[in-house]
Amino acid sequence: MPLRAKIDNQDIFSFNYNENSWEKLKSQYKSMGLTMSCCSAKAIPKTSKLGNFYFAHSVKSNCSSEAESPEHLYIKTLIAKTASKCGWLVKTEWPNDPNPKNKIWEADVYCKKNKTQIVFEVQLSYQTNQITLKRQREYTKSGVRCAWFASEQSFDVEYLYPNKETPFFLITKPKVGVIPKVKNFEVELTDFVEGMLNKRLTWEERPITNTSYIMFFEDECWKCKNKNKQIFGSGFDVYEDRAKTVPNASTILVGILNSYGKKALHSMGLNSISSFGTIKGNAPGFPYCNVCYHCGAPQTNHYLMDKLSNGKIKTSYVEHEEISYSGTWEYKHGNPHT
Ligand SMILES: [Zn+2]
Ligand SMILES: [Zn+2]
Repeated sequence: MPLRAKIDNQDIFSFNYNENSWEKLKSQYKSMGLTMSCCSAKAIPKTSKLGNFYFAHSVKSNCSSEAESPEHLYIKTLIAKTASKCGWLVKTEWPNDPNPKNKIWEADVYCKKNKTQIVFEVQLSYQTNQITLKRQREYTKSGVRCAWFASEQSFDVEYLYPNKETPFFLITKPKVGVIPKVKNFEVELTDFVEGMLNKRLTWEERPITNTSYIMFFEDECWKCKNKNKQIFGSGFDVYEDRAKTVPNASTILVGILNSYGKKALHSMGLNSISSFGTIKGNAPGFPYCNVCYHCGAPQTNHYLMDKLSNGKIKTSYVEHEEISYSGTWEYKHGNPHT
């Protein structure tokens, strides 16, 4: 149920009407050549049972715009009216190009102010996140910022991890006539949209330090006789993983190699880790083992496990810190009088 129609090829939008002007349109549209924008069929201005204005095909049609639910219509209207009130040029069911052949996207609510283009997509029924991300990329390519409002009935917090590129927010189950709330913010959708358009919604990133450790024992290389540090496990937080058997040592070591890399191991003064195909002293099919810090000679897992089980070694660990960034959307409440 679109909010958009055409008169003489000019777009008109139902959310721009008030009770009086809508009644006036209803009494005059027959002589105005009012048509649908979706398919050029003749259009009728209608008022839903709960008071929303929209356009309908004059003859029952298979046009896809007919399938839109009253809740979708209601939420689009709320967003369009809010954006319009905030001084943005607002269009609904708005395609990237008027020629249907060039259609890449069609925005539920499209807003423009100066050179800034913002789109709001209202997603009440489920779509896979591959589709959401694909649609997001298409908007991004066109230089349009797109934000999503999705019904908590069809989506949950696991659907998309919060991120700056794809602003995706859950709203409470839509009911016509009741402004939904944006979940996690406990703000009404209309206030939230107003906040977004006034830059009161920001992406905040904070660094998080992750500390992990690598376990080793001090040893002497069989080949070069220099002291080296044999790696046999790692851990972080309450989780710890150490070599238990000769084949398992290879698995543990390749895990450490993949999470830290050779450079980091070297900078911590530890042996390196490499794959040696089939050598005596490693289990067949488990080729990873320590490599001497000084001379590069393999220190086999059979040897490693022997040392670990004979108990005459002193084990120790080296800590490793890594900084990652965790972000969230932060909404600042506006001045109630603006
Ligand atoms: Zn149509
Ligand atoms: Zn060596």
